Amino acid sequence: MFGNKEFCPFCGVKLGLGKYRTKENIAICPICAKTLAVNHNVIPQQTINCLAERWKERMMHLEVFQSFNAYREAVAGGMYFRADDKLKMWYASKEKKPKHPVLFRFDEIVNVELKEDGNTVTNGGGIGRSVVGGLLFGGAGAIAGGLTSSKTSKKEIFSLDIIITLRNAYCNSLVVKLLTFGKCKSGDMTYNICMNAAKELGAFLEAIVKSNDSTPQPPNPPSSPLSSTDTQQDPMEQIIKYKELLDKGIIDEVEFKRKKKELLGL
Ligand SMILES: [Zn+2]
Repeated sequence: MFGNKEFCPFCGVKLGLGKYRTKENIAICPICAKTLAVNHNVIPQQTINCLAERWKERMMHLEVFQSFNAYREAVAGGMYFRADDKLKMWYASKEKKPKHPVLFRFDEIVNVELKEDGNTVTNGGGIGRSVVGGLLFGGAGAIAGGLTSSKTSKKEIFSLDIIITLRNAYCNSLVVKLLTFGKCKSGDMTYNICMNAAKELGAFLEAIVKSNDSTPQPPNPPSSPLSSTDTQQDPMEQIIKYKELLDKGIIDEVEFKRKKKELLGL
C-alpha cells in the first residue's frame, strides 16, 4: 500500500499537508480554499455541495469582475471599498488592486454600526435598508454627534470599528478597524482621522443603499457563458453530426462534403 491518495475535488491536485476538510471529511487544497473565500474555520461545517455552490459563485465573481467599473470608492481602516452602480456590486479589499475580490450585491447590506471599544455608538437600526445611511451617517455629522464621550471627557479609546452586517451565507459581517494601531483620545488628531474615514465609508455605503433603492435590480446581472454556445457550435462537432446524417442516409455524399467545406471555412 502507498497510503491514501487524496485529490482536491476542485482543481484535482494531489493533496499534501495543509489541506482543509469539509463536513464529510473531503479534503480541499489550500489554494482552492483561498479561492472559495470562506473562513477556514467555516469549511469543516460546510458540505462539499455547499462549497461547490460557493465555487460557482466565485467563478461568477471572477467573470463579473472583468467588467467591473469603480464608480464609487472609499478608503477606511486600510481597506479599499469600490462599487459599480451598473453591476450593483461592491467589494472591500486590503489590496489596492485585487485580482479576484469577493463581490457583494448592493442589496446584501443589512446594517452598519460604529463601535467604540466594543460598545455601539451609532447603529443603523437594522430595520430597513433605507435607514442605514440616515441614522448612522446622515444629517450634520451624525457620527460626531452620536459619540457621547467626544465633547465632555478625553478618555482613551483602544478600538473604533465599523461593522457592516450582510445578508450573505458565507460572510455575514465585515469588520473595518479604523484605529489600525495604538490608541487615541476622543477629539485628538488620530481620532479625527478615524472619524473622517468613518464618514467616507459611511457616505460610500449610503450611496450604495440609495442607489439600490432607487432602481430595481435585474434578476440576473451577468450573462451566462453558456448562452453563446448554442449559436457558435464547434465545427468539428457539427461535422460529426453531418457524418451521422450521411451514415443514416439522410443526406448524400455531395451534401456532406459541401457542409464539411463550409464548416471548415474552405
Ligand atoms: Zn484545489
